[in-house]
Amino acid sequence: MGRIITIAIPKGGVGKTTTAVNLAASFAAFERRTLLIDADPFGACSMSLGFTPEKTKGGLYEVFNFVYSMTQVIHRTELAFLDFVPANVKAPQHEDRLQRLSENRTMLRNVLRQLVPHYDYILIDTPPFLRGLTTNALSCSDSVLVPMKSGHFSLEGVDKLFRHLEWIRETANRTLQVEGILQTMYEPHLKVTEISDRELQLRYRKHLLRTSIPKNTHLTEASFYGKPAILFNATSRGTLGYMELARELMGRHAVPNAAAQAGTPASGLQGPAQG
Ligand code: ATP
Ligand code: MG
Repeated sequence: MGRIITIAIPKGGVGKTTTAVNLAASFAAFERRTLLIDADPFGACSMSLGFTPEKTKGGLYEVFNFVYSMTQVIHRTELAFLDFVPANVKAPQHEDRLQRLSENRTMLRNVLRQLVPHYDYILIDTPPFLRGLTTNALSCSDSVLVPMKSGHFSLEGVDKLFRHLEWIRETANRTLQVEGILQTMYEPHLKVTEISDRELQLRYRKHLLRTSIPKNTHLTEASFYGKPAILFNATSRGTLGYMELARELMGRHAVPNAAAQAGTPASGLQGPAQG
């Protein structure tokens, strides 16, 4: 059964999308059957994977509107083990409608049910707020991965998210776990990093991941060229950081690679949508 991990924190620009795309690509590089779902109407995952509107044949928007099934909007990517479901929100009124539809918290859970056995990992990227799609994603996930821009003292976003997780556990998803807090854009030699590290250790030590992602411009450049960093510069510090993160998480979940499994390959599920 695939592990569903939502990447969330109610704070913008901290590396949620970068983490979703590059962690997904790293799992795929390790031959874990991986599905990345863009649950942010802004659609940044699409841009980071080179899915222009012409290459996009439907997405979460159509699934929530019952136009397509989830399998029909799975897009293949340049990586054999990575599939992708875009948000495909093209107009502001679509965004409003998607938000309204996602007030039904079981929406994603229902549409994901049939896919879970076919993947090792399902990663969900979310917008920088908690209502609607983020709540939907958290309600159907096994865990949440929390990116934090290093060197920022305010843990307000993490505190807010953790309060929200309590509510989700009480009302929708009793077993929701914290996968961990990931420090992104990490600059180890700065004084501010030292101070924020200390604060994080004090408050959230048990959730802090061993891996942190260094500040690395190749990650931004890669997304500009519509590629996960591993296909842009396989040896950049950003790429290696996300590979290390994948290794850390796989070590916990002990998911064997697909070559060792007899299950259906992810691509065997795909409908007409191709990227
Ligand atoms: P939003 O809340 O707006 O969706 P986000 O949390 O998804 O934002 P990203 O879009 O992943 O954040 O990252 C914000 C910016 O920081 C982007 O320009 C991205 O390329 C850059 N960035 C992310 N991680 C790193 C890193 N490790 N080193 C350097 N730049 C990074
Ligand atoms: Mg984002």
